[in-house]
Amino acid sequence: MVSVELREILKILGDFRLEIESLKAKEGEFLTLLGPSGCGKTTTLRIIAGFEKPDRGEVLFNSKVMNEIPPYERNIGIVFQDYALFPHMTVFKNIAFGLELRKLPREEIEKKVRWALKLVGLEGFENRYPEQLSGGQQQRVALARALVIEPEVLLLDEPLSNLDAKIRERLRGEIKRIQKELSITTIYVTHDQEEAMAISDRIAVMNDGRIEQVGKPLELYYTPKTEFVAKFLGLSNIIELEAENGKARLGKLCFNVSKDGKVRIFFRPESVYITEGDFAEIVSYELLPGRIRLRLSIEGKEIIAERFLDELPFKVENMPKKVGVQVKSFALL
Ligand code: ATP
Repeated sequence: MVSVELREILKILGDFRLEIESLKAKEGEFLTLLGPSGCGKTTTLRIIAGFEKPDRGEVLFNSKVMNEIPPYERNIGIVFQDYALFPHMTVFKNIAFGLELRKLPREEIEKKVRWALKLVGLEGFENRYPEQLSGGQQQRVALARALVIEPEVLLLDEPLSNLDAKIRERLRGEIKRIQKELSITTIYVTHDQEEAMAISDRIAVMNDGRIEQVGKPLELYYTPKTEFVAKFLGLSNIIELEAENGKARLGKLCFNVSKDGKVRIFFRPESVYITEGDFAEIVSYELLPGRIRLRLSIEGKEIIAERFLDELPFKVENMPKKVGVQVKSFALL
């Protein structure tokens, strides 16, 4: 197993500046680069692959500097958003391509291709052409092609973006299963926060050419260090309050912050519980499948709460104008 590390990377592309002080995917880890369009995810992946040379800094595999090693000698498997299959070749030929380049004996190629087909659940599809496959199946072929060479590092650049929601969910579960089965160090690029949360061991959130925060999915979700990370990962409540004697108050809410002065309190809508009471006004609400999202106002500050319907102390048909609120966990931003 291999670790992948970036140290003091700088890459300038026109007006864009990518600067990564340090980032490490541990041996066998699934690390995701998550961020909005144009933040530098693909460029980072291309630097790891060796398609792009950094202006400064080092790429290391198992602590060995790789900067001068060309992509085809880095022992990496790559999957792109658009599958990039050879249209005139069968599934078998597509997957066998890398092995044929390496001049492996026929029998070994057959064996490895069958292994890869089984791994991605495409046994029996070997004689089809890409145009005879659905998008999800084409991406499975691309994954098999990347894995058949038994790479030490797997790089995936938005592999699910072109697929519809259902297939996307199924395939992301399978990518995760295969990654764990092979214990292959994986770096995955996406702009979709739900996908990143579902699939990753750790996530590096990127913004404008920099890494904002690296952490486990729930760590980032519940204790983001910056407003950008908080907002990028989902609906957020961020309220500014004045703390006195270590407590910040809003209506009957009291946050123990153990410092005084201005504080910024962050919590997710799921951390807000609705009780019987009268200090929070219901501004509006919307129904989601099985759940409800409420917009509440407390002393002029808006708070979003999200609960399962059966957690409410009243029926939706008898929605009161005012309720009580409890916040069960929060973080300081
Ligand atoms: P997306 O999700 O849209 O692919 P990304 O986060 O992967 O975005 P990159 O593709 O890494 O972002 O691009 C980062 C920035 O670098 C963008 O602003 C892009 O326009 C710019 N860029 C990329 N390649 C070049 C290039 N060859 N010359 C000039 N600018 C470039």
